[in-house]
Amino acid sequence: MKLDRILKYQNIDVGVFKEEKNLASSETAKSIKKHDDIVSQMREAVSRSDLEAGTLFARMHEIDAQIENICLHERNIMSVEPGTLEQLETLDKDLNSYNEQLQALERDVRRMLERLQEMQSEFAKHVSSANRSQEESRKLNIEYKKMKEAHFAKFQKEYTVLKTLSAEIDPQLLAAYKVRRAAKKMPVFVPYSADSGCCPACGMQIVAEVGDKLKAQGDFAKCPNCERIVYLP
Ligand SMILES: [Zn+2]
Repeated sequence: MKLDRILKYQNIDVGVFKEEKNLASSETAKSIKKHDDIVSQMREAVSRSDLEAGTLFARMHEIDAQIENICLHERNIMSVEPGTLEQLETLDKDLNSYNEQLQALERDVRRMLERLQEMQSEFAKHVSSANRSQEESRKLNIEYKKMKEAHFAKFQKEYTVLKTLSAEIDPQLLAAYKVRRAAKKMPVFVPYSADSGCCPACGMQIVAEVGDKLKAQGDFAKCPNCERIVYLP
């Protein structure tokens, strides 16, 4: 049958794939992901803080200019001696108003400085958390590398056979297989029975789509639902 080689390949590969999956879902792999996620969350938090600090500094710059402006006005109105009681009252009122504005700006600056201090301690926490997770991830990756090496050593024979077999398989067919394997659609090739008319993998009724294409043993077609390859055994 034209699918003999690829089916033989799949037969061996199913066992290898199962072990690869176990490896990828091992506690070690999960922990690596957890720590890597923490590192990227902390990096995001740090860059958000950077942005916020930038905004705060820009606002403080503005306030600086505003304060300077108010002081200038104050100096200007004070340089003119009030000649009448009315002028003195106006001067008093203006000075009071400038003082209030200055106090409000001062409060703003104080709040911003407090926030910056808060951010500094948050920043330190984020950095130390990121460093901890990075170190954990590094250690776990060493362990995971060993696990992978053990896996390859255990399945060395299978991998060698797969390599030999793959040279004997139509490249297009092998490529189609590998795409589905990467999408974790295993097994890729599933035997189709005209009696049921269903894809044995996903259970979808597919006789209308593939019935005409599957006439002789070894004929194959794509399941329109799960995209596996159904074949006539
Ligand atoms: Zn299907």
